[in-house]
Amino acid sequence: MRLILLGPPGAGKGTQAERLCATHGLAHLSTGDLLRAAVKAGTELGERAKGYMDKGELVPDELVLALLVERLRESSDAFLLDGFPRNVSQAEALAAELGSIQIERVVNLELGDEEIVERLLARGRKDDQEEVIRNRLEVFRAETAPLIDYYSAKGLLVSVDAEGSIDQITNRIEDALSNGAPSA
Ligand code: AMP
Repeated sequence: MRLILLGPPGAGKGTQAERLCATHGLAHLSTGDLLRAAVKAGTELGERAKGYMDKGELVPDELVLALLVERLRESSDAFLLDGFPRNVSQAEALAAELGSIQIERVVNLELGDEEIVERLLARGRKDDQEEVIRNRLEVFRAETAPLIDYYSAKGLLVSVDAEGSIDQITNRIEDALSNGAPSA
């Protein structure tokens, strides 16, 4: 199974990704986690990425791709992408990298703005301060939300309500994945 998990910051992508990967035996490819690890390790790439992350901006595509591509090659038949792609150019780079390998489903987690801000403030990560959160939401709307139409047009999108308990959301995702054809 090859999946993409899409959704605004705070929608629970990381938590749901871990569960889906454990259940279905998928490699969890989180560009946010890879970037945070690079920052922590103090690599040159991490140094370059850090300023963007602290402001809630997207890290330039070439840095993200540099981290992701090798891991994608190692796990090309069973993976879940969490936090990637974040814009249409990344989606196109992904398609080019995968060649004839197809993404099977794009799970779109949907959550209202108020709930997003509430959850992120409660999480309290360094990039979760209110001003940065607002910026991350704007970046999501401007850059990432167009992927909803992009993947919907390819017939790959399934949308799932991300309000409720972690278990409820997991169940909704599993239902969406086991139902036949994805619906836009
Ligand atoms: P996340 O944990 O996915 O919310 O990512 C945390 C931060 O890492 C984001 O706010 C971005 O600055 C950066 N980031 C993660 N994934 C990407 C990506 N695919 N493209 C650009 N920046 C990213």
